Amino acid sequence: MNKPVEMQNIQTVPLWIDGKHKQAAGARSGEVTNPATGRVIRRVPFCNAADIDAAVQSAQRAFPAWRDAPPLRRARILMRFRELLDQNRDQLAALITAEHGKTLADAGGSVQRGIEVVEFAMGIPHLVKGEHSEEAGTGVDTHSLRQPLGVCAGITPFNFPIMVPLWMFPVALACGNTFVLKPSEKVPSAAMRMAELLKEAGLPDGVFNVVHGDKEAVDALLGHPGIRAVSFVGSTPIAKYIYETASKNGKRVQALGGAKNHAVVLPDMTASAADLEFTVEGLMGAAYGSAGERCMSISAVVAVGASADPLVAKLREKASQLKIGPGDGKDMDMGPLVTRAHRDKVAGYVDKGVAEGAKLILDGRGLKVTEHQDGNFLGASLFDHVKTDMTIYKDEIFGPVLCVLRVDTLDDAIRMINANPYANGTAVFTRSGGAARKFEREIEVGMVGINVPIPVPIAFFSFGGWRNSLFGDQHVHGMEGVRFYTRGKVVTTRWPDANAVPQGFNMPTLG
Ligand code: NAD
Repeated sequence: MNKPVEMQNIQTVPLWIDGKHKQAAGARSGEVTNPATGRVIRRVPFCNAADIDAAVQSAQRAFPAWRDAPPLRRARILMRFRELLDQNRDQLAALITAEHGKTLADAGGSVQRGIEVVEFAMGIPHLVKGEHSEEAGTGVDTHSLRQPLGVCAGITPFNFPIMVPLWMFPVALACGNTFVLKPSEKVPSAAMRMAELLKEAGLPDGVFNVVHGDKEAVDALLGHPGIRAVSFVGSTPIAKYIYETASKNGKRVQALGGAKNHAVVLPDMTASAADLEFTVEGLMGAAYGSAGERCMSISAVVAVGASADPLVAKLREKASQLKIGPGDGKDMDMGPLVTRAHRDKVAGYVDKGVAEGAKLILDGRGLKVTEHQDGNFLGASLFDHVKTDMTIYKDEIFGPVLCVLRVDTLDDAIRMINANPYANGTAVFTRSGGAARKFEREIEVGMVGINVPIPVPIAFFSFGGWRNSLFGDQHVHGMEGVRFYTRGKVVTTRWPDANAVPQGFNMPTLG
């Protein structure tokens, strides 16, 4: 039997250590599939402790010289890297689509959002400036420094193969740290391409390394004494595990977890055809874009009062018109899910919603895409009359399934959202400034949109949720990212002077 074309020449993705490709020592490996065809396109090595140690040692060797490079020199390398990302945008988007499945346009948008973090990090000479107080005491001056930590690790999820790593390493490198990235084993190639582009931009060997694998590789990173800080983005149970394990091992940790993001729609937004269109158009992309595989996807719409009936009717109309097919197809709205197992899990949630009594308004389970019978496709599903004790509300589904919950008042909606264990993003749709202001002030969620369904902050602000959506204190990028990847130091200086205040035995007051 002939093998499918993609099966004929399957290569194993290498590691990136010391500025070059390296084969893994670990014997285990996994398959990378194209979600649109279901075919294996690459193999990915699962690193063992020796592989991880080689990467960490490389980063440790590179650290002193990189730390001592003036911030402006580090920034210039990032400026060249930014240009290379821009020039290779289409190729990077194609790599994302081939392994993740999302549409090319969506993949390109995520590359752009990642580039913006590089642009933020290029300002590092300004961002790490300290403060200075002249004459903090008599004859005494005080100034503060921010210094890098050492080797930092990043462990990233499948859903943003370029953007999420770019939330981390540009800021870490700009601050003078070196880095070991472990991308998701489902989408390993984009990280490798970024490593090559960093080298082309002039990054010294060893400053940035890429390892691959699963729990074994992650545990080796978490336990390695050479790693000073760990940034993680992924599901909540793993985020919690990473936070607890790495903290116990004395590392600084920021671990971003899963989400259940609510959009509240007030009745004023369904009163006119134009506002209803505006609202539903926004919700379509937020719920079904990237097949719902976004940590900021809207998966629950909270319809207040009389908004529910017109809203559900319009959601149904629009969701049933979505163009679903391979991510590299023309004008697609939605591609396949990342793996067959994930597709089946999401379809199982639709079964469960029906069994638990929610009203299925649109059923995406039967979708067939011509010439892609083995792809991981699932159509858009829409549930109405969902209750907070149903599994489809409680779990993060991470697929194209939107749940509508009906409440009487804005206060009810706020109470519901604040009681949810996740708290990544949320949005309110209204024309009322008073209602929006109340929502913004009372909602206990990390990122809030006012008529903006996916309120991902621009790179010079910080990204992160509350409660089970973030374990740790610092969000990613923006100034919180700079603080995460640096340590503060305060220097107090006095020079010998004839008029100096004598230094005695008592607690110095510098007065
Ligand atoms: P995941 O938690 O399964 O995997 C994330 C990373 O952890 C991967 O690199 C994986 O190899 C590793 N990992 C998996 N199991 C592990 C284990 N038992 N021990 C140690 N490491 C392990 O997440 P995913 O399925 O790749 O990504 C989807 C999840 O990520 C969703 O829950 C989504 O909400 C979340 N996410 C959150 C954000 C955010 O900003 N909060 C952003 C993107 C994705």
